[in-house]
Amino acid sequence: MIPFLDLKKINQRFDKEFENAIKAVFESGWYVMGEQGKAFEREFAAYCGTKYAVGCANGLDALRLIIKAYGFGAGDEIIAPANTYIASILAITDNGCTPVLVEPNLETYNIDVEKIESHITPKTKAIMVVHLYGRAVEMHKVWELAQKYQLKVIEDSAQAHGAIYQDKRAGNLGDASGFSFYPGKNLGALGDAGCVTTNDENLAHKIRALANYGSHKKYENIYAGLNSRLDEIQAAILRIKLKALDADNQRRKEIAKYYTQHITNPRITLPHIDDEKGNVWHIFPILTKNRTKLQEFLSQHQIQTLIHYPIPPHKQECYPMYHHFSLPITERIHEEILSLPMSPVMSDKEVQEVIKILNAF
Ligand SMILES: *Cc1c(COP(=O)(O)O)cnc(C)c1O
Repeated sequence: MIPFLDLKKINQRFDKEFENAIKAVFESGWYVMGEQGKAFEREFAAYCGTKYAVGCANGLDALRLIIKAYGFGAGDEIIAPANTYIASILAITDNGCTPVLVEPNLETYNIDVEKIESHITPKTKAIMVVHLYGRAVEMHKVWELAQKYQLKVIEDSAQAHGAIYQDKRAGNLGDASGFSFYPGKNLGALGDAGCVTTNDENLAHKIRALANYGSHKKYENIYAGLNSRLDEIQAAILRIKLKALDADNQRRKEIAKYYTQHITNPRITLPHIDDEKGNVWHIFPILTKNRTKLQEFLSQHQIQTLIHYPIPPHKQECYPMYHHFSLPITERIHEEILSLPMSPVMSDKEVQEVIKILNAF
């Protein structure tokens, strides 16, 4: 069986280091908001090239906290890609804001930057870009629009740890960025974790308070905040895995290159490989009109695939008010997309096997 993502194998590489780190936290007697968290924030900010990183409980909270810190709420609109993972949209609606959904570009699967401007209204407060599947968004146009209309740029970098656009890493491409360290992400903890990166000192300061009941000083609450903190054990784990992130992303790029060079089945549309640095291949998505059959065929041959994502946000049961939207490109992607096995611990043999079976379909 070739798994879609072998998390156990990924983490077993750090077996001894994890054991020591967890034991050290255990023995320190300090489990939340301590030295490990601070050190991880320093190291992750340095990695992204930002001045600040603020740990929190998960990626959804990171995005919720950014929007909350800016004070956006009812009546405010935030532009977002229509084909994103639901969490991007939940962060917007949870704050009472209205998501304005923009179709993706079929070459990149990211928000079609040429279609953003026509969606900007006097109510627009921010553009949320999502570096989907690991590919950095074409930011140039986004920056231009943000400047022209005085909008904030919020990045959802939950799938793009280490992706680069014009020499800057995801997390340092907007006013503030949300990261997830959910176990399956390119940088994943042993449970839930997240953080916000930014160069804005006031914003970082406010988010730190918001994530801690709205408080800087114990029992004094400036804001009606949340409890969304990064715990010490997860921070210690993330510090170890951060050191391996670039090598892991490099292996993903190798696999992606190999897939694109050797999958020749005409019934399969491969993702574009353009800028080597711009994509850390969180997911390797293909398009096919025969998805159900292909997925069954692969499964019969012991290859596990997943669909990212089977239902787009505007068709979800929780958003009946968006069901009537016409987003044909998004809907086509959701009907045809299939994610192949992709991970830093896949062997060459496994990659070759996936290619062989795909070409035999
Ligand atoms: C995983 C993910 C999130 C949410 O992260 P969690 O840590 O699971 O809350 C947000 N946006 C995108 C694009 C994601 O892939």
